[in-house]
Amino acid sequence: METPDAGLAYSVQAQAARYYSVSEGAMDEARQDYLDALPVAASVLCQNEAGRSFIDISNEIFCGAADWDPAKDPIWIDQIEFFKATGIGPALDDFLKRGEKAFQFDRQESQSISGRHYTVRLSRLRSTPYAPQRCLMSLIDKTMQVETEKNLRAEMLRDSLTGLPNRLAFNERVAAVFGDPLFKEGSHAVLVVDVTRFSRVNESVGALAGDELLITFARRLCSVLRPGDFLARTGGDEFGILIRLDRGMKDALRFADRIKAELSMPFHLSEMEICVDCSIGCALFGSHSNLPEELLRNAQFALKRAKTAGRTQLYEPDEAHAARRRFRIETDLRRAIEADQLELAFQPLIDLSTGAISGFEALARWDHEEDGHVSPTEFIPVAEESGLILPLGQWALAAALDVLADWDRQAGRKLPIYMGVNLSAVQIQRDDVSAVVAVALKKSGIEGGRLMLELTESAIVHDPERAAEVLEAMRALNVQVAMDDFGTGYTSLAYLQRLPIDLLKIDSRFVTGMLGDPDSAAIVRAILSLADALGMATAAEGVECADLAAELKRMGCTNGQGFHFSEPLGAEAALDYWMSRSA
Ligand code: C2E
Ligand code: MG
Ligand code: MG
Repeated sequence: METPDAGLAYSVQAQAARYYSVSEGAMDEARQDYLDALPVAASVLCQNEAGRSFIDISNEIFCGAADWDPAKDPIWIDQIEFFKATGIGPALDDFLKRGEKAFQFDRQESQSISGRHYTVRLSRLRSTPYAPQRCLMSLIDKTMQVETEKNLRAEMLRDSLTGLPNRLAFNERVAAVFGDPLFKEGSHAVLVVDVTRFSRVNESVGALAGDELLITFARRLCSVLRPGDFLARTGGDEFGILIRLDRGMKDALRFADRIKAELSMPFHLSEMEICVDCSIGCALFGSHSNLPEELLRNAQFALKRAKTAGRTQLYEPDEAHAARRRFRIETDLRRAIEADQLELAFQPLIDLSTGAISGFEALARWDHEEDGHVSPTEFIPVAEESGLILPLGQWALAAALDVLADWDRQAGRKLPIYMGVNLSAVQIQRDDVSAVVAVALKKSGIEGGRLMLELTESAIVHDPERAAEVLEAMRALNVQVAMDDFGTGYTSLAYLQRLPIDLLKIDSRFVTGMLGDPDSAAIVRAILSLADALGMATAAEGVECADLAAELKRMGCTNGQGFHFSEPLGAEAALDYWMSRSA
C-alpha cells in the first residue's frame, strides 16, 4: 500500500509531467538520470505553499550518505534524521524563503569524531506551480580533507622527539589564557627551563644520548606538573611551562625550586648516568606584555640572566628595551665600521716619577648619527657579542699605529712613546692576532716595542692556553703586553707569573677613591708589591686629582692615567699635548 508521503511525491511528479507536457515516466527517468550522473550526493528539494520542505527526487549517493530510503522513509525534511543531525534543514528552509540564487556552507554530520564533513551547495531551480520554491542540493564530502588538515595541524603542534607540544602549541595555549574572559593580571606565569650546557653534553656523549637525555628530562618535568599546567618543548634544550598562580610570584618561584630539586637527581640513560643542571627564567602574565610570543621572549630574557646568576630570575620590564637597543646598536655599528665612521681618541699615560709621557692609549669613539656620542662601554660589549669586534679591533690597531707613524713624521723624529691598543678576549679567541699585529706593524713601519696591547683578565681566564700562545707570539714580535683593569677579574697568580706581561694597569675602581678608602688603598698597595715581585711595571687608571697622583708616586706606582693629566684627546690635540709636556 502507498504511504501518504509516496502518494504526495507521486502527485507532485504527475503535476510536473502535466506542466512540462511530457509523459510522467519519461520525465521521471530524465531527472533521475541527471542526478545519478552527478559524482556527488544530490537531491532536488521543494517547499510547498505551506512553507514545508520535502525531498522531491535524489540520487543513490545521497540516499547512502543521508541513510535515507525513498521507498520507506518520510520525505519531509523536518522528519529526516540526517537533516536534523547536520542542521541542514533550517538552513535549507531559510535559503528557500530568502530567494537567493545559490548558497554554500559547511556542515558536520554530528559532533562525534566519526561524523562526516560536507560542503553543502544549494542552487535555486525554477519554481513551478506545484512547488513554488525548489532547489538542487549537492553534498561534497570533505571528510578526508578535514581529517588530513587536522592531522597535519596536530603534527605541526607537536615536538616529534619528546612528543610534547611545541612552541607553536605553547603560544596558542598562552593566547587562550589571555583570551579567557576570566583572565586576571598576574594569574599565570611562563617558566622557561633550559638544560645547562646541553651542547657540551651533546658533544661529549653523542647526539643519540643527548636525545635520550632530552626525553628523560621532559618526562621528569611532566612529573612536577599540577593539573592544568602546560608543558611544551619550546626550543632545542628549552622547555616552556605555563602555570596558574594562586599566590602570585611566590608560587612561580616555589614551582621553579620544585623543578630544580626534581632535576638535580642523576639521569639514568641506557649507557650512562649523567647529572645536569638547569636554569629557569620566569615572566608573569599581563604585567608587561599581552602577546603570547612576547611572554615567552620575556621569560627567555630572564633565563639568560639566570644562566649567569645561577638562580631563577624574574623578567624585568627594561630587559626587552635593552635588548632592542643592543640590536639597534649592532646594526648601526656594523654600518659605521663599514663606512669608516669610528674614530680614535688618545689618552696619555704619565711616568709618575719624571712627569714625562710614557705612551698614549687609543680609545674607540663613535658619534652616532641620531644618538650622538655612544660610549665604548656600551658598543664594545655589543661588538664582542656579535663578532664585530674582529673588524673593529683590526681597524683600531691599524689606525692607532698609523697615527703614531704620522706623529713621528710631524715631529721629524721617532717619539719616545708607545701606543696602547685594547685587545678584546673575543679577538684572542677568534682572530689570528699574531698575523693581524704583524701586518699592522709592517704597514705602519712602527717597531713592535712601541706597541702595547692591553688585555683584560677575561682574555686569560676563558682560554689560558690560547692566551699564552698569543702572548708568546707577541713576545716574538717584541710587542709589549699590559693587563688592563687589573683587580676586577680572576686571573690566577700562576698565570700572571708564567705569562709575559710587562705592565699591570690597576683598575680605576680601586684608584679613584683610594685617598678616602683604606680598603682600596690596601688593594692598590698589594697590587703594587705583587707587580714589583713579578718584575712588572704598573699604571694606575682613573687618576683624577693631583693629591692622588702624588700619593701613587709615593707608593711606587710607575704610571698614572686619568682626567687629572688629560682626558682622551683627538690625534692632533694629543700631539700638541705631547709637545707642550716635552718642551
Ligand atoms: P679601558 O681600556 O680601561 O680604558 C680606560 C677608560 O677609562 C676609558 O673609557 C677612559 O676614557 C676612562 N678614563 C680615563 N681616565 C679616567 C678618569 O680619570 N676617570 C674616569 N672615571 N675614567 C677615566 P672609555 O674610553 O669609555 O673606554 C671604556 C672601555 O672600552 C675601555 O676601558 C676599553 O675596555 C674599551 N675600549 C675602548 N676602545 C676600545 C677598542 O678599540 N678596543 C677594545 N677591545 N676595547 C675598547
Ligand atoms: Mg685599556
Ligand atoms: Mg682599563
